[in-house]
Amino acid sequence: MKVALVDVDGHGFPNLALMKLSAWHKSNGDSVEWYSPLFSRPDRLYASKVFTFTPDYRGFAPCAPPPVRGGTGYDATVKLPDEVERTLPDYTIYPEFTPALGFLSRGCIRSCPWCVVPRKEGKIRVVDDVERISAGRREVVLLDNNFLATPPEFVSEQLAKAKALKLKIDFNQALDARLVTERNAKELAETKWIHYIRFSCDTGMMLSHVADAVRLVRSFGYRGEFFVYVLAKDVEEAYDRICRLTAIDKKIVPFCQPFRDFTSGGEPPVELRRLARWCNIQSIRKTVSFRDYRSGVHR
Ligand code: SF4
Repeated sequence: MKVALVDVDGHGFPNLALMKLSAWHKSNGDSVEWYSPLFSRPDRLYASKVFTFTPDYRGFAPCAPPPVRGGTGYDATVKLPDEVERTLPDYTIYPEFTPALGFLSRGCIRSCPWCVVPRKEGKIRVVDDVERISAGRREVVLLDNNFLATPPEFVSEQLAKAKALKLKIDFNQALDARLVTERNAKELAETKWIHYIRFSCDTGMMLSHVADAVRLVRSFGYRGEFFVYVLAKDVEEAYDRICRLTAIDKKIVPFCQPFRDFTSGGEPPVELRRLARWCNIQSIRKTVSFRDYRSGVHR
């Protein structure tokens, strides 16, 4: 069978579901390629979209079979069959991406109103193992939504395995600062990170938790950076949060994410996008005040 894939979001970050589908089909003797309306004549077509705000793909040739659509951007309830979910990803379809990729756990213990995870994945549960995911690669990007909410024994086991295997890891969806304890702070401090430890600070109430977590991890000898996601709904409040966050520790790198209302599907307001640009380009944030930046003095 000929299989063709469409990564509707573009190829900026690998689409794990498509990687697993590709590996599963290849293991069953099928050929797999990126869809081209001119050249592909697939028997089966998959289109995957992670982000709701990505415009849909409209380039299918009239003779193409109806695509099997999946991903949060289409329908958060669509899941891969278990057999496909257990398959290790096909890295050859994203040759530029060199780390291993996967989830140690799915779901979350919380239900933040802006987040799709509770609806999509339900309660937290362990689903995999860092050694199996790594599959011989030295760096592992983990997409867990709340790894520290898994049982403490599992957290310890996985971080110890990563250390023993000399893996560098990254929880790129961030760790929950509220769940940093004496025990896991030591383990986090002893872990090798691809770039930094990530936390999120999505509301003002999270500031004290991030401050405590940073202090605790630092107390066990971690000298690297903390990358902190900042969800922004109100420009003044988010700006104030960014300032208070960066005052906690000089190696905190804030990353502002303007809130998107997925029901209206629109772009975030221009002022929020301006705040995000100012915040996320470190060379600007460190040299130009937001007041000057927003008034256009330094643009
Ligand atoms: S803690 Fe994170 S993953 Fe869990 S519901 Fe809140 S935003 Fe979503």
